[in-house]
Amino acid sequence: MECLTVREARLPAAVGREVILRGWVRTRRDSKGGFSFLELNDGSCLGNIQVIVPGELPNYDSEIRQLTTGCSIQVEGLIQASPGEKQAVEVLASRIVVFGWASPETYLLQKKRHSYEFLRTIAHLRPRTNSFGAVMRVRNTVARSIHEFFQEEGFLYIHTPIITASDCEGAGAMFRVTTLDPQANPPPKAEDDFFGKPTYLTVSGQLEAEVFACSLGKVYTFGPTFRAENSNTTRHLAEFWMVEPEAAFFDLAANMDLAERFLKRILRDVLERCSEDMEFFARWVEPSAITTLEHVLQEDFIRLSYTEAIDILARSGQNFEFPVEWGRDLQAEHERYLTETHFHKPVILTDYPRTIKPFYMRLNDDERTVRAMDVLLPRVGEIIGGSQREERLDVLTQRMQEQGLRMEDYWWYLDLRRYGTVPHSGFGLGLERAVQFITGMGNIRDVIPFPRTPGSAEF
Ligand code: ATP
Ligand code: MN
Repeated sequence: MECLTVREARLPAAVGREVILRGWVRTRRDSKGGFSFLELNDGSCLGNIQVIVPGELPNYDSEIRQLTTGCSIQVEGLIQASPGEKQAVEVLASRIVVFGWASPETYLLQKKRHSYEFLRTIAHLRPRTNSFGAVMRVRNTVARSIHEFFQEEGFLYIHTPIITASDCEGAGAMFRVTTLDPQANPPPKAEDDFFGKPTYLTVSGQLEAEVFACSLGKVYTFGPTFRAENSNTTRHLAEFWMVEPEAAFFDLAANMDLAERFLKRILRDVLERCSEDMEFFARWVEPSAITTLEHVLQEDFIRLSYTEAIDILARSGQNFEFPVEWGRDLQAEHERYLTETHFHKPVILTDYPRTIKPFYMRLNDDERTVRAMDVLLPRVGEIIGGSQREERLDVLTQRMQEQGLRMEDYWWYLDLRRYGTVPHSGFGLGLERAVQFITGMGNIRDVIPFPRTPGSAEF
């Protein structure tokens, strides 16, 4: 007898085979005819498989009739075509072994629907729900697509450090990493710390990725990223995963082409590989979940300068909470207006004012704007932020002075401009923003296994 997952067992090709299935009981129903139905789920797919348990099994009364939601079991039996309308196949059990019980008095995941807020308080159990299981399968598919896409495009996967002494200026507040005792008397000195200087959790692998782009050509990093911003929004986490491609000889146009191809590839893969999960999201979470993805796939992304965007927003007649004015950063409400209401398409905004963007973005000839690009999508707003990097040593040092940065902290970054400098570009995509957009989930905390947000790191 071979071991199958529920996903494999539900394929028509499995009919007629004697198999072993293992998983968790979702429901049990006893029939008057002296047998029982179990719905079994093992997380390999959204759907359950129906198990028919004949009353003749030796543990039928002692165990099978005691099974409740959450119990874990092994089923041995024959897969057969189901006469029922709800499923194509079912398993006729010849033996059932119970691994573990789940007391219905205390097991918190009963059949009823729970709020996402409640499920966050039991993050160790929520992967057993339909919605969180579907999210995690989509998340896995996105992660797989990210690697497949960049590998196929000839990018090398570079592992940039998590502990860093450099601040990717402007990316957000940082978590300090230290072995010093904060209570020590006299107060500890930074040079006595583990690394001999202050260190932090990375807010971006970009600066390090640039080192490798300026030697290996096309690279990407994909890993955990940390921001200590105290923003309790539905789009921000303190710990999230970011994929950051960086490519030598790419100008901003090539960078935008890459970002658009990349996003479309991810969406296409999810629609193809996670159709059952996507139908679940369209039915229970966000009615437009599938149609929005199909729409984005069909459209060419609008490319528009920040200055033009300000113009559109100023003339929109909308009552925005935050003012619209050239030189101010755009808020989520502005981003969403542009992509959802005005264009009905994804939008790539470029050429932002130099004053609101970090030092490493390439200065335009107008000297007022830099070669930045943000990709905006409906519902989530900014999903990608990137730029062409400043490759001219003199301009870069001037921009660093203007932003009050210490040259000696960035000597290695400046060396890249001193020796064989090249035009290059890159961007960052937040994995959770992408999963949030794709699934239609309202809160970013519900698309990561164990969310870290201000005041919350229980699990
Ligand atoms: P925002 O303006 O939305 O706060 P940002 O401009 O600070 O984002 P970037 O530094 O450009 O973000 O980071 C690149 C991408 O990383 C963003 O486009 C977004 O997808 C993602 N991202 C940034 N901050 C967070 C966060 N706190 N939680 C989850 N994803 C994030
Ligand atoms: Mn950004």
